[in-house]
Amino acid sequence: MSTITVKAYGTESKTADLQEMNIERRETTPKDVEIEILYCGVCHSDLHTARNDWGGTMYPAVPGHEIVGRITKIGNDVTKFKVGDLAAVGCLVDSCGTCESCKKDLEQYCLNGFTGTYNGNDKHLGGHTFGGYSEKVMVDENFVLRVPENLDLAAVAPLLCAGITTWSPLRHWNVGPDSKVAVVGLGGLGHMAIKLAKGLGAEVTLFSRTPGKTEDAKQLGADHVVISTDENHMDSVKGKFDVIIDTVPYVHDVNPYVATLNISGTLVLVGYLGGLEPILNTVPMIMGRRSVAASLIGGIAETQEMLDFCGEHNIVSEIEMIKMQDINDAYERMLKSDVRYRFVIDMKSL
Ligand code: NAP
Ligand code: ZN
Repeated sequence: MSTITVKAYGTESKTADLQEMNIERRETTPKDVEIEILYCGVCHSDLHTARNDWGGTMYPAVPGHEIVGRITKIGNDVTKFKVGDLAAVGCLVDSCGTCESCKKDLEQYCLNGFTGTYNGNDKHLGGHTFGGYSEKVMVDENFVLRVPENLDLAAVAPLLCAGITTWSPLRHWNVGPDSKVAVVGLGGLGHMAIKLAKGLGAEVTLFSRTPGKTEDAKQLGADHVVISTDENHMDSVKGKFDVIIDTVPYVHDVNPYVATLNISGTLVLVGYLGGLEPILNTVPMIMGRRSVAASLIGGIAETQEMLDFCGEHNIVSEIEMIKMQDINDAYERMLKSDVRYRFVIDMKSL
């Protein structure tokens, strides 16, 4: 298969800084669109992958799965897009299309394994996929999203991961105007969870370790803020929430949050991947039919639903625009929770 050389930014090892590099991408196939990348959001998963936090990172690693751009070329069989259209790509660029999950529009749970936008197995070229920290990307049109024209393009980018990852559990657990929702952690995912839950009409509470974020949280739409390190404050919301979206990226005690669930309430882990410590106590779960669940991004149809909802409700991410060359500093700031509330790379700077 013929390829083209594309400028990108990535890392050769878990300890190296990201730097400019060239990657090979396939020429557009008949089903592909070619997207000139205008903006790419910076997700905490990018950092986990670059530094091999989860194991399994294939190097060189080019992160980025919050992609917004413009279509510059289409394959002969493309029907949904034309050259010049705005387009977006999230965390998935392919799946088998035939398994039970794919048939239900749950490509993220493809039983044969979805292809991640980066660090996935590249079905076309062999090797692994490269993400959005690059000039352009070729993607099967079925994995490309339409962008509402009324929204700020750079601020749309984070919807493609932070947005859909919080939207999918809000929808799955039927959040609406009667719901009391809490969000743990005010970062990229957390701030989108507040905006989307609020958009769905819920009463929203933020749990944060960082008192300095209270005013921001209220401006983002939170009705209440609870400082999670303050036991009395935590006690004041015992038994309150129907759904909690927990976005904390590292191992943490979820028991204090389970205590704040209402009868039949569900805490949905979307941040941390791995064994829970300390041990999860089932007593409050059994005594109140409470659940601890988890959720992975969202399918393509659901991502489009979320983008359309954001278009109708004027919802976008709060962003700090950076240049590509600032990415290593941005990662350090993200580790200190010093992001308000999503970095987005202006890809013209590459
Ligand atoms: P982020 O912007 O860094 O936000 C995480 C927030 O969690 C921080 O702002 C902080 O909020 C809180 N936090 C950070 N470290 C903490 C700690 N040690 N203990 C308690 N709270 C802590 O990250 P993000 O981009 O939103 O991503 C969050 C996590 O979701 C990452 O692990 C990412 O890989 C994962 N993720 C999962 C999916 C999925 O499909 N399930 C999709 C995308 C991302 P406060 O200052 O308010 O406490
Ligand atoms: Zn992500």
